[in-house]
Amino acid sequence: MIETMLGDITQVDQVDAIVNAANHSLLGGGGVDGAIHRAAGPKLLEETRTLGGCQTGEAKISQAYHLPVEHIIHTVGPVWNGGYSNEADLLESCYRQSLLLAMEHGIRKVAFPSISTGVYHFPVNLAAEIAISTVKDVMNEHPDAFDLIIWVLFDSDTKKAYDGALKNA
Ligand code: ADP
Repeated sequence: MIETMLGDITQVDQVDAIVNAANHSLLGGGGVDGAIHRAAGPKLLEETRTLGGCQTGEAKISQAYHLPVEHIIHTVGPVWNGGYSNEADLLESCYRQSLLLAMEHGIRKVAFPSISTGVYHFPVNLAAEIAISTVKDVMNEHPDAFDLIIWVLFDSDTKKAYDGALKNA
């Protein structure tokens, strides 16, 4: 099942893992990354320090500490550079690698934020289309792997983009 909702991803408790739109260092930052580190508490930083960073399009997993879920999957989205720097493939890779890592850990319910569309400036309609189509592809390739994939979107314009992409997929 694929869904969208308006909300704060740090409050979501109906999934096994939330995905963080992290940066290379995995040491926290602004936007959703900062919110997740604040809500999870300082033990998260202690763990992410040991993970060796993360490349764009890749994913790493940690515990979730004070968050009401089991795990956090940290992925690093591409910075939008006019579409000339392989951004679409890298964003696709974020969703695919996050879900493959979830599968390795038996995680069946996953919440995503809108990766790369904040300070990384990826155009939201294109990001939504890539996000939805990649997740649908992975779910078709692994039909028994997931119970719920939900996008937790922070503002109504972003939600509109994901709802539109879901309708057109
Ligand atoms: P990126 O660096 O990948 O662009 P950002 O955190 O700047 O990541 O933004 C990604 C999206 O996450 C934006 O739509 C932003 O509004 C949203 N966002 C920020 N805080 C939260 C939160 N607590 N829960 C869900 N989404 C959030």
